[in-house]
Amino acid sequence: MMKYISTRGNAPELAFDEVLLTGLAKDGGLYVPKEVPQFTLEEIESWRDLPYTELAHKVIYPFVEGCVEADALKQMLEEVYNNTNFGHKAIAPLQQLDHNEYVLELFHGPTLAFKDFALQLLGRLLDYVLEKRQEKVVIMGATSGDTGSAAIEGTKACQNVDIFILHPYGKVSEVQRRQMTTVVGDNIHNIAIEGNFDQAQDMVKASFGDQSFLRGERKLVAVNSINWARIMAQIVYYFYSSLNLGGPLRPMAYSVPTGNFGDIFAGYMARKMGLPIEQLIIATNENDVLHRLMASNLYEVHSLKHTITPSMDIAVSSNFERLLFDLYDRDGLALADLMNQMADRTQSIELSEEKLAKARDLFDSLAVNEEATVETMKQVFDESGYLLDPHTAIGVKAARECRRNANIPMITLGTAHPVKFEDAVNRGGFDMPKLPHHLSDLMDREERLEVLPADLKTVQDFMAQNTFKD
Ligand SMILES: *Cc1c(COP(=O)(O)O)cnc(C)c1O
Repeated sequence: MMKYISTRGNAPELAFDEVLLTGLAKDGGLYVPKEVPQFTLEEIESWRDLPYTELAHKVIYPFVEGCVEADALKQMLEEVYNNTNFGHKAIAPLQQLDHNEYVLELFHGPTLAFKDFALQLLGRLLDYVLEKRQEKVVIMGATSGDTGSAAIEGTKACQNVDIFILHPYGKVSEVQRRQMTTVVGDNIHNIAIEGNFDQAQDMVKASFGDQSFLRGERKLVAVNSINWARIMAQIVYYFYSSLNLGGPLRPMAYSVPTGNFGDIFAGYMARKMGLPIEQLIIATNENDVLHRLMASNLYEVHSLKHTITPSMDIAVSSNFERLLFDLYDRDGLALADLMNQMADRTQSIELSEEKLAKARDLFDSLAVNEEATVETMKQVFDESGYLLDPHTAIGVKAARECRRNANIPMITLGTAHPVKFEDAVNRGGFDMPKLPHHLSDLMDREERLEVLPADLKTVQDFMAQNTFKD
């Protein structure tokens, strides 16, 4: 059975079901697999003709073995990655931009962004594990966009989960709001906070810190990308895209629009599991804490900028700790020291030259400003009539700037559909694309939301009253 350990070396080892239900480890670290499953090239090569669900089973099963039955996993994967749920038969199709240059389209799921790949599965896994354990949980999260809708879509059918998603009232786009508020289910609660995103986020943090408002009957579960199950589900599409382009017999390079370092960490995992990956490109917007570290060896937290790529607007990249853990040769106590330094001293750290060199061996990085983002959308549209979403455009720009070897296929992860990001589409002077067919009536669906003041007690009372009413 796979065990999971904390990156800070001072928390109990957990099995998969416990990791699924735990956010941060008790020592403040993040959980990672104790041993990474390894596949040989021959094994990977033998999966070449598998459809997405079957490939997903090969990649995911070793991580959940002992907690989830092989057949149960198979059923979940079939429920999630099919042509009813995803608006494309290939699930994760490749779009060619140029000779040896591709976009991996990860936006055919119910909410049109890559987060569906993980959160659709996470909902099923949660229900399965909770059923076995005879428990129920409450999911609480704050969103400025993609995570909230993907989490709601992923858990709407869960028997054992109540979900409360806070968003800043009047401050998310209409498409994004409707993707949350039109989902039907007694267990779904959209709370519009009369305040900004940071206030909503602070209320979530405070609630995790002191859960007594739930009267001890339930516990809160986090669905942000520190949850290991999300990373796990995202590893699959690296294998899938590689196999579709002649891997593993030839290496691939990936460019990944990055915020919390979750999606790109999944690529790093795929490589550790045996998939030949030559280069991983960290593409950021002007919230470029990771690029500054890679370029000038200073990891320093700046205040947040709001950009036309809101899903990458982060000040701290939490999953980066998982990579640091490996750079520190999995020495949890050394890493705990480093992270404490960061908390003490003006929120900054430096790495040794040797560790930085190790990171630069595989990773390159680029920060792309708004102007260059829109410029790239225009450039690609002129080249091939293909409209990128602004997050993906950042990835394509970084792919073109940082590429090491033109003979290796370069795959940019297409993280969202452009229809979700009206500001960027308007800035580029493009016609607004149509909603995909499975969402074509989104603007006519009935909405359900609760508008509440930015007051912790009011929000918590609302949650307590609306949790598991039978
Ligand atoms: C969440 C998100 C990202 C960033 O992904 P991370 O895993 O946080 O790096 C990029 N693009 C879009 C569209 C997203 O929704």
